Amino acid sequence: MTEPRQVAIVGSGPAGLTAAIYTSRAQLSPLVIEGEPSSTSDQPGGQLMLTTEVENYPGFVDGIMGPELMQSFREQAARFGADYVTAKVSRVDLSARPFGVWVGDPDAPEPTYSAEALIISTGAQSLMLNLANEERLLGYGVSTCATCDGFFFRGRDIAVVGGGDSALEEALFLTRFADRVTVIHRRGELRASKVMQQRAFAHEKISFLWNSSVIDVLGDTTVTGVRVRDNISEEESTLELAGLFVAIGHQPNTSLFKGQLEMEENGYLRTFDGTRTNVDGVFACGDVQDHRYRQAITAAGSGCMAAIDAERWLDDRHSAEH
Ligand code: NAP
Repeated sequence: MTEPRQVAIVGSGPAGLTAAIYTSRAQLSPLVIEGEPSSTSDQPGGQLMLTTEVENYPGFVDGIMGPELMQSFREQAARFGADYVTAKVSRVDLSARPFGVWVGDPDAPEPTYSAEALIISTGAQSLMLNLANEERLLGYGVSTCATCDGFFFRGRDIAVVGGGDSALEEALFLTRFADRVTVIHRRGELRASKVMQQRAFAHEKISFLWNSSVIDVLGDTTVTGVRVRDNISEEESTLELAGLFVAIGHQPNTSLFKGQLEMEENGYLRTFDGTRTNVDGVFACGDVQDHRYRQAITAAGSGCMAAIDAERWLDDRHSAEH
């Protein structure tokens, strides 16, 4: 085990890296355990690594590519002394002090790292249809965020997959840009609340394709359509589209903390009084504790809050010791 750190940060999306900028500028030499490259949002840089252009992050008049934005965050924190480990955390022990963090073998007797304060920013991931071409075209017509990408579909025909409140909220939002929005739902009945259903049914730009599943996404470099199967007749057809929004739910990356940190019913970490969790000295920020806003800028804001909360907590602890 290496020397205990004052602060370790688990996760390196906008929340974790903003926490790294603030804690490194506060001379706390944070260790950022940033994840490992993968096709999901729990990789270094988080969900923005799966996005192309970001136009709603303040400060970039002409927009910026998601990966480039995250690289800037990363370098900014490194400039002030943040250290990075490119690895996935396999286990944490929040009952010990300093807190133990394992990468690699979770059964190793000693933690790989330890820290007095821990900031958790492991994010969330959009559930996906798990189609090969959906993954290939993510950021090129396939999107999981209408707020982020709707603007790129002005005057186009697009579809939203899902039958819950998220799908209808996305569909309603997308009517601001698109000519026609088709909601593709696998059953004949929506899961969404009645009020959202009424709004969607009443909207002239929204139509529904019931009992239907998207079985393939078409297009070489950008989406040109989807292949759909009717779940009753089993007939297949092609729908020409410029964009596909997948809105079938999100899952927070919280499995590491089960049994150690309090969670909401939907699995998101519960925070109190800012970014505190139920364990003193453990703070949570970004999408892992936010199922409402889920924006890069709100995640970055809560990363700043977690850094300030951790810094004050460490100060109080050190002054109590002396
Ligand atoms: P959700 O309620 O779990 O709905 C997910 C939808 O996606 C369901 O209709 C489900 O179909 C469908 N689905 C799931 N897996 C699928 C798959 N593999 N292929 C095709 N379809 C699939 O998730 P959500 O809409 O993200 O909402 C999550 C929570 O946040 C809910 O409690 C919701 O009320 C809340 N929320 C509220 C608002 C609001 O009030 N404005 C906005 C957004 C979210 P089935 O119906 O067949 O299961």
